[in-house]
Amino acid sequence: MIDIVFASNNVHKLEEIASMLPLNMRIKSMKEAGIEADIPETGTTLKENAFLKADFLRKKGFNAVLADDTGLEVSALNGAPGVYSARYAGPEGNARKNIKKLLAELQTAADRTARFVTVLCFIRKGEVHYFEGEVKGVIIDSPRGNQGFGYDPVFLPNGFNKTFAEMTLDEKNLISHRKKALEKFLEFLQNSKQ
Ligand code: IMP
Repeated sequence: MIDIVFASNNVHKLEEIASMLPLNMRIKSMKEAGIEADIPETGTTLKENAFLKADFLRKKGFNAVLADDTGLEVSALNGAPGVYSARYAGPEGNARKNIKKLLAELQTAADRTARFVTVLCFIRKGEVHYFEGEVKGVIIDSPRGNQGFGYDPVFLPNGFNKTFAEMTLDEKNLISHRKKALEKFLEFLQNSKQ
């Protein structure tokens, strides 16, 4: 059995990954691996932050580690909020305030296209691998739906007439940025020697 330590204690993410892994692999949260830490996300790109988190665990001596970082990139805002998506409205912000700020910034924008991007960083035996998943869509004028989290109520994925917050979790997970990055990771695991 190969244990992969994931740089998060987010139960939903852990479940999503666990459900996709081959039978000989198991994902563990930081807590389960005995690590109590709030890893600083000081990078200026998603890739850098994913690496920082994975590398933190690698330095603790784990052989196989995984970390993710996600952001919403809005074309009219030159890719903002991007790596700063969680704290777009400031350190005391929350999803509602982040959405409010985003809609205010886009008030006069003709182009409302955006994408969610997830970068996964997997380090095994010192080798670093990255996997990226994206979902493209548009930012609508006002929030719709109450499922999901973060920017879901204002993100309408291309080809759908429901926002992420109007979809069930299963519907969203079928097309999500995280799912696409995870699929690439899984494909890599299947094609590589353990
Ligand atoms: P994290 O890297 O997964 O913690 O995501 C950083 C931030 O991006 C979150 O705090 C949310 O604001 C936003 N975000 C990430 N994934 C999603 C999503 O699936 N829907 C909406 N917002 C998201």
